[in-house]
Amino acid sequence: MPVEVKIPALGDKFQDYRQDIPGDSFNWGPVIKATDIDTFTFHHTVTKQTAKTDGNWKKECDAVGNLHLSRGWAGVGYRFIICSDGTVAYVGDLSRGGSAVADHNNHMFSASFVGDFTKELPTAAQVHSAHLLSKHFLFEMPQYPNLKDWTQIKGHKDFNPTACPGSNWTGPDNLRDRILNDRFAGYPDPQPVGTATPPVPTPPAPIIDWEQKAKELEEQVNQQKTIIDNLNQQINDRNNDITQLNSKLTTAEGQIVDLTTQRDSAIAQAQDYLQIKRERDELLNQRDLWTTQERNYKKEITKLTSTNNDLRSGSVGKLAKAIFKTIFPFL
Ligand SMILES: [Zn+2]
Repeated sequence: MPVEVKIPALGDKFQDYRQDIPGDSFNWGPVIKATDIDTFTFHHTVTKQTAKTDGNWKKECDAVGNLHLSRGWAGVGYRFIICSDGTVAYVGDLSRGGSAVADHNNHMFSASFVGDFTKELPTAAQVHSAHLLSKHFLFEMPQYPNLKDWTQIKGHKDFNPTACPGSNWTGPDNLRDRILNDRFAGYPDPQPVGTATPPVPTPPAPIIDWEQKAKELEEQVNQQKTIIDNLNQQINDRNNDITQLNSKLTTAEGQIVDLTTQRDSAIAQAQDYLQIKRERDELLNQRDLWTTQERNYKKEITKLTSTNNDLRSGSVGKLAKAIFKTIFPFL
């Protein structure tokens, strides 16, 4: 009985190609007993990757089918071919084991990547499809109860001496690990359909050391406080200066009043002095006048005395003496 397989996670990247691939896909290889299946094994085809550029996955499958027929086999050896454009082609019915791993075809299913992984890498789309295919067989196929965890994913070289599936099945950043973890970043195009290029991670916001920030702000506040304190001190100093100057000004104004009074007093004294001096000069003039008059009078007296004497000595003199006595009775 043919086994139908549906893998929704792969969408139209899963294709049933059992009817069309060269050879008999349904009746070749050991009959499978579902409970015996305990391994899912990967291979590489060592055929050309062409679908990754032309999208023709059928051509890649046909090349593999023909290669296997050329070995004298009745049909394709693998159950699935993972084409380089990411298409998973169902090529060998699961009711038969086909031919993939010598002496082990009765307890495993094999899927093969198109390509030669001793010389090239699988495409990113192939890795992603291989992950989805593995996951489906491990967790979504209850009819194979002994196929159930990731340790059952193997490579051809884990069973036989062979280069299959390529030089990077083990070792650092190996293909097996990438299949298990669906890690295809950095592998060649095409990238898996429906998976966007991983977004460029936005750099994390810088971690703000709030404690440090608070310290810095406190320091700034303290600096500002110091500046304000200094300014206040200067204002106080200026206020003190102003108070002192006001006091001096008041004193000076008092002094000006005093000096004005003194000046007015001095002016008054000077005026008094000038008045006295004028009066003195007047008196001096009068005295001089009087002195002159006195002198004149004395001269007159001398003259009159002489005249009188003359008169006394003559009759004329008697008369004159009489007149004189009349005029100057006090002499
Ligand atoms: Zn192989």
